[in-house]
Amino acid sequence: MRRLLPLLLAALAASTSADAADVLHLQGTLTGTDHQRYLELPFQVPQGTGRVGVTLQHDGGKDRTVIDLGLLDANGFRGWSGGSRSSISVSRYDASGGYLPGALPQGEWKVLLGIPNIRTHVHTPYKVEVTLWSEAEVQAGKDRPALVLDPAPAWYRGDLHMHSTHSDGSCSSQRGNKVPCPLFLSLQAAVRQGLDFVVVTEHNTVSHLEELVRHQPWFDRLLLIPGMEVTTFQGHANIFGINGPMPFRLGDTLPDWNPLLRQVADEGAVFSINHPALPAGEDCMGCGWTPAKPVDMAGVQAVEVVNGSQADGPRSGVGFWERQLQQGHRMTAVGGSDSHNPGAADGPSPIGLPATLVHADALSREALLAGIKQGRVVVDVRNARGSRLELRLQTDDGRSADMGQDIALAAGQWATLLTELEYPQPVQLEFIVDGKRQRAALAPNANGSQQASLRWRSDGKRHWLRVDVRAADGSLLMLGNPVYVNWSR
Ligand SMILES: [Zn+2]
Ligand SMILES: [Zn+2]
Repeated sequence: MRRLLPLLLAALAASTSADAADVLHLQGTLTGTDHQRYLELPFQVPQGTGRVGVTLQHDGGKDRTVIDLGLLDANGFRGWSGGSRSSISVSRYDASGGYLPGALPQGEWKVLLGIPNIRTHVHTPYKVEVTLWSEAEVQAGKDRPALVLDPAPAWYRGDLHMHSTHSDGSCSSQRGNKVPCPLFLSLQAAVRQGLDFVVVTEHNTVSHLEELVRHQPWFDRLLLIPGMEVTTFQGHANIFGINGPMPFRLGDTLPDWNPLLRQVADEGAVFSINHPALPAGEDCMGCGWTPAKPVDMAGVQAVEVVNGSQADGPRSGVGFWERQLQQGHRMTAVGGSDSHNPGAADGPSPIGLPATLVHADALSREALLAGIKQGRVVVDVRNARGSRLELRLQTDDGRSADMGQDIALAAGQWATLLTELEYPQPVQLEFIVDGKRQRAALAPNANGSQQASLRWRSDGKRHWLRVDVRAADGSLLMLGNPVYVNWSR
């Protein structure tokens, strides 16, 4: 046993370094002779590095010692933050304020320290920690600090689809000219719409990643999730939760959709087919879902059933989605404004119309993506603030499943489908069982909400049961995802 132990420890150390970033420690002590000097602390950046992080620590503040921070890469200047930041990082796609994103050349880099002040007889020890993440760790999101804007489990309201200057978003300039629209205006529009999160989904690019990182501290009630609208000649799909570029050259470098679906799954992101019922010809090139080769639909986690104002009618995605369910492909219905102009409150697709409500364990990227995959998701077509839609299947033998959950129910067993609703105007309710619709009577609850129920008997086969809310004129207001019966995941 005694001889085995060092081997075991060596193996543990190796596995740790394979999973975690490399950390280098550069430290020293400043004295009065360093007053108004610059110091370079060299370190090596190996090939394949995806992010360099630098953290400076010292406690000289009590003696009025000030240390400025900057960074030189193997080719020269990379950034400077003076005394305003103690922790910075640079990667290919984003960087802290004052630093340049871009390629990370291998070779000797230097942390640059400037000392505007240290008193003559003072000694100030400092510690600089340099963290190196590999490109693979960055693409997998392992370099990203966990961000939770609200730790409470709740329904969170967001918009999953929008464009800005980083692709084809445009709006009116100060002089009234149509110009590429700054992303910040979209985010402010989302705040005005009362949203908790947005996914910014630019066409085939990731140039917005840096702005999202820089804007997030200011938007500390609005979670900013980077996405990309994979825009091909055979359809569009949103990827929610990207860390870098995704392949989009379908029929060229990407033979079919399936390798992309596998990459999305590996990286913990969500793949959502966009506006599947839009035309695909010269009216809207590549917009409709028209894959040339078979797609493994098990890798598709979501479908955009309401794109902008297309909730009802031939361009609604509801029919496409329900056909997938009927064929046994389980995927979550979501909505997205596809806004290209945050200033056009009365235009075809303002931010937040529709909103997608996701029941998540917290307001964080990870919890929201998990909530979308799980399917406790409601599309709120008009973003009616304060709206709520719950669905539960309660079996006569005392078990239950909520929206997005599975339950096994043998042939002949009875259950009750229960829905509870809050909406700021009178509405109609429709239960949908395997695509067949039936109206239900709403009754008021003591808590001010309304409810309806449906008795239902299982035949032991696979079923999906859900609920829609409609206005008096029949137009769709809220679309609920199903409770699944006898589906194995
Ligand atoms: Zn599109
Ligand atoms: Zn779009």
